[in-house]
Amino acid sequence: MTTQGRISDEGVITAATGQERGRSRPPRAAFLPFALPHITQAEIDEVVDTLRSGWIAAGPKVKRFEREFAEVIGAQHATALSSATAALHLALDAVGVGPGDEVIVPVYTFTSSAAVVVHCGARIVFADVDPATCNLDPAKLEALITPRTRVIVVVHIAGLPAEMDPILAIARAHNLPVVEDAAHAFPARYRGRMIGTIGDLTAFSFYATKTLATGDGGLLATDNAEYAQRVALMAMHGMSRDAWKRYTAEGSWYYEIVAAGFKYNMTDIAAALGLQQLARREWLLERRQAIAARYTEAFAPYAELETPPNPAHVQHAWHLYMLRLRPERLTIGRDEFIKRLSAANIGTSVHFIPLHIQPYYRDTYGLAPSDFPAALDAYQREISLPIYPSMSEDDVEDVIAAVTAIVEAHRR
Ligand SMILES: *Cc1c(COP(=O)(O)O)cnc(C)c1O
Repeated sequence: MTTQGRISDEGVITAATGQERGRSRPPRAAFLPFALPHITQAEIDEVVDTLRSGWIAAGPKVKRFEREFAEVIGAQHATALSSATAALHLALDAVGVGPGDEVIVPVYTFTSSAAVVVHCGARIVFADVDPATCNLDPAKLEALITPRTRVIVVVHIAGLPAEMDPILAIARAHNLPVVEDAAHAFPARYRGRMIGTIGDLTAFSFYATKTLATGDGGLLATDNAEYAQRVALMAMHGMSRDAWKRYTAEGSWYYEIVAAGFKYNMTDIAAALGLQQLARREWLLERRQAIAARYTEAFAPYAELETPPNPAHVQHAWHLYMLRLRPERLTIGRDEFIKRLSAANIGTSVHFIPLHIQPYYRDTYGLAPSDFPAALDAYQREISLPIYPSMSEDDVEDVIAAVTAIVEAHRR
C-alpha cells in the first residue's frame, strides 16, 4: 500500500489505495482526495535543472514551452502566462474590450471568465447554458447580441468542447471575435480540430488541479499575429518585446515602456513542469478517459444518475467528471449525497456554482436564481467525482461502490 502524496518506486506520486476488499467493498481506510497533480521524476529533474541553470523567472524554458505547446495544438502563437485568469484578461485587452462594451459570458463557469470583463471596465451579459452539456447554448446566444457587444466568451466545461460551429457562425455574422476559456480543455478536439485553434484567442489553465499542471500557470493561443504581439507586450509591463534578453550577452540595459502593462508572465520553474507534463499528455489523457469510461459504464444502469455527455464529434479532455443526480428519484438531495460520499472517504466537489447566484454578480447585475434555469438546475444536481491519472483501479472502484451504495440506499 502506498501513502498519499508519496513518490512510489515508479517515480509516480500515487493516491492512497485501500486494502484488498471483497465484493462488499467496505469504506476506504484513507480519504481519496478530489484532485491531485501527477508528478514524476521527469518533472522533478526538469525543475532541478532549472534551479541550477540560474534562470528561474521567464527565460528559455518558457520560450521552449510556448513553442512546444503551440506545435502540439497547431496554433501559430502561444504566450505562456501566470494563469488562465491572466490569459483571459489579456485576450479581452487584445480585442479591445473597454468601457461601454458588452461581453457575453456563460453563467455556468468559474468567476475568472467574467471578472476579467469587469477589469476591462466593460459590462457582462450572462448567457444560460445547454442543459445537456452545461456549455454556452448557441440557441440562446443571438438574442443577447446588441450593438454594444464586443466579444463572445465560450467555456468548454469539464473539458467538453462547446458547439463551436454554430457559435462561430453567429459570431461571424455579427463580426464578433470569440475568446475561449479552455481552462478545462487541454487536450480537447472539436470536429477534429484542437481546442486552441478554433476561436480568435484561447486561454488555457495549468493550475494544480487542471489536466496539465504547473502549480499556477496559463497560456493564450492565437493565430492572429497582432493579438499575439499585444498579449506578449501587456503580459510583461508593456515593455518592448523580449525584454528578458536584456540581461543576456545579446541584450542591453535599455528598454521602453509603450503601454501600462501587467505582470502576467510564466516562470521557467513552472515551464519546466509544463514541458514534462506536455511530453506525457497522451498518457495523462488516456488515464482520464479510462476512468471516465469506467464511471459511465458503472453509472449508466442507474436511472437516479445522469452521466456526462461524450459525443462522438469531440475529444473530451475529462478535467472533470460531472455526475448529475435525478433528485425526483432519490430521497436525499445533492448536499446530503456529498456528505455521505465524504463519510465513505471519497473527496468530491461541485462545478459550478453559477455566477448569477454569487453575491457580487447577483447584486451588481440584479439577477434572480430563476434567470438562468438550465445553469441553476445543473448546479443543484451536480457532483464532481475524482478523476485524475494517479488514481488506482481500486480508487475508481471505491468511488463507484460508494456512489452506487448511496443510490441503492436512498432510491424512491
Ligand atoms: C481554473 C479556471 C480558470 C482560472 O484558471 P487559473 O489558471 O487558476 O487562473 C478559469 N476558468 C475556468 C472555467 C476554470 O476552471
